[in-house]
Amino acid sequence: MKQCSFDVVVVGGGHAGCEAAYAAARMGANTALVTLKQSDIGVMSCNPAIGGLGKGHLVREIDALGGVMGVVADKAGIQFRLLNRRKGPAVQGPRAQADRKLYQEHMQRALGATPSLQIIEGEVASFEFEGDTVVGVNLIDGAQIKTKTTILTSGTFLNGVIHIGNERKSGGRMGDKPSVPLANQLLSLDLKMGRLKTGTPPRLNGETIDWSVLDSQPGDESPTMFSFLHDRPFANQISCGITFTNEATHDVIRKNLEHSSMYGGYIEGVGPRYCPSIEDKVVRFADKTSHQVFLEPEGLSDKTVYPNGISTSLPYEVQVNYVRSMKGLESVEILQPGYAIEYDFVDPRALSSTLELGGYHGLFLAGQINGTTGYEEAAAQGLVAGLNAAAVALDRDPITFSRADSYIGVMVDDLTTLGVTEPYRMFTSRAEYRLTLRADNADQRLSPLAQDLGILGPDRVSGFEVKMEELQAGRAILDNLKVTPSDLEKIGITSKKDGQKRSLFQVLSFPGTDLGTINQLYPEGLGISDRIAVQLKNDATYATYAERQKREMEVLKRDEKTIFPETFVYDDIDGLSSELRKKLTLVRPDNIAQAARIEGMTPAALVLLLAKIKKFHQAKSA
Ligand code: FAD
Repeated sequence: MKQCSFDVVVVGGGHAGCEAAYAAARMGANTALVTLKQSDIGVMSCNPAIGGLGKGHLVREIDALGGVMGVVADKAGIQFRLLNRRKGPAVQGPRAQADRKLYQEHMQRALGATPSLQIIEGEVASFEFEGDTVVGVNLIDGAQIKTKTTILTSGTFLNGVIHIGNERKSGGRMGDKPSVPLANQLLSLDLKMGRLKTGTPPRLNGETIDWSVLDSQPGDESPTMFSFLHDRPFANQISCGITFTNEATHDVIRKNLEHSSMYGGYIEGVGPRYCPSIEDKVVRFADKTSHQVFLEPEGLSDKTVYPNGISTSLPYEVQVNYVRSMKGLESVEILQPGYAIEYDFVDPRALSSTLELGGYHGLFLAGQINGTTGYEEAAAQGLVAGLNAAAVALDRDPITFSRADSYIGVMVDDLTTLGVTEPYRMFTSRAEYRLTLRADNADQRLSPLAQDLGILGPDRVSGFEVKMEELQAGRAILDNLKVTPSDLEKIGITSKKDGQKRSLFQVLSFPGTDLGTINQLYPEGLGISDRIAVQLKNDATYATYAERQKREMEVLKRDEKTIFPETFVYDDIDGLSSELRKKLTLVRPDNIAQAARIEGMTPAALVLLLAKIKKFHQAKSA
């Protein structure tokens, strides 16, 4: 080990850990990433894909803040699709299927090339405390690393148990041992913890699939990248196969339900409702006779195929039978059985909005350990924890995100205020300001913050500045040029015949109208590039809603500024129910906006809280 004392130590090299280490190092903190296997940095434990609905927004936001996930996903992407393309831009989600090996390779290269970041292979067995401050981590081989702050991102590894049918064995994920000593120390810290579970499908040998009888799904003709730095894919692009479950598949599953780890009562943890296993689908949607299954190649030079949609914890022989009942898979070979995994998580209500663990100084948690599921959710939390662990170590101000500025803010607020009852996954419906928080404008919302923090590389800064200049110039052109209803009629756009002149920006907000159509009025062209035209169309589409949301967001931001003092106690507030006192003490909201979202909070209780905050400040200034 080159050095034994760091500003920030990140435990775990999964998606949260990579982003956390990258963020902390970019903040200028001397950072160590300690992980079980260096070669496993960036492993995708389940599906070989990044992004999707809501998740794609998170990746764009990570990228806008100078993070690494979007860049690596672009470099490893072998099929790009913009989901919900037919719906409004606010709910469209960029998604890429990735070559697993390329993803790992590029992630390891990016971290390896980051100054101030050292990677250490080893198992962290415990934290070293001085009072309630974490001052180091102890490795299983006896080595100790001193640190000012620590971020734990151990994923599914804490007391992990793998289930296949009625077989169970300890494991962090297939092929990895679990993290038991560290889990035991966390259990001894008097934290509220629970068990969750998730599952993965069997992996198939693509050489044994009859692709000739299957439909295929290509990527988008003009792919949407994650990173604002990129405009086209790097790797060769492929198509996926499509097959379906059928009555025979469902029969096999129904007959063997008692042998499924979950339905046989072998698992106590709660699973992701929105990512159901095939057993769940057959039971919960009993009237459906078929489910679509995407056959996704795991890489350009890898015969492994990931059958998306059939995760399972049925015994191996049953998996063989139900998989072979599907078209094209009659002779398929299973390379690795599907399995379910149960693991410990920490109730995220114990965390502040910087993801620091309440009651302890310098200990941050990020990723699956906080009750979330998914690479993107993990990475976004890693970013928040990385920035803030570095901020504490370097004595800089905390960096927090609001529901009004990002999906990152929505997720952190949901987790720390409401907690989880099942693995938390991001959806666009979780964001009340989703018409404003779009994937296409993530850079406009967040890159200025990253610029202020000094964590945006020079290429990103110049790219962002050029884009903003072009956008402002384009907007000025559209605001200044006015047209009449009869001008519009000439190019086939119907509008109210009121004789009113409208700006081109207003015209652009008409459904089905784009700059291509408007350009017909200006044969010499408007001088607006295609990239900026798309952004302006999105801005115009949502302009009226955005104005309305802006007012609501201002109220929210005002409430977020009403901060609870650190020493605030709830016990002596007369009129506050004991149930609310208990919830407030557990969550310890940072501000009044967060308190307002606690389940069961009433306007009367908020008035009591506000009065006490006011009294506290009056006493302080007296
Ligand atoms: P991980 O990616 O799990 O990384 C944890 C890291 O911590 C690893 O590098 C490990 O080596 C390291 N580590 C652990 N303990 C220690 C220690 N003591 N010392 C040093 N290093 C340590 N997500 C979905 O969205 N949908 C799904 O359907 C889905 N299914 C899944 C199925 C399975 C079987 C598994 C295992 C995961 C699944 N996931 C799914 C979850 C997805 O893999 C995680 O959400 C994501 O990887 C979490 O990222 P993370 O960084 O929190 O943890």
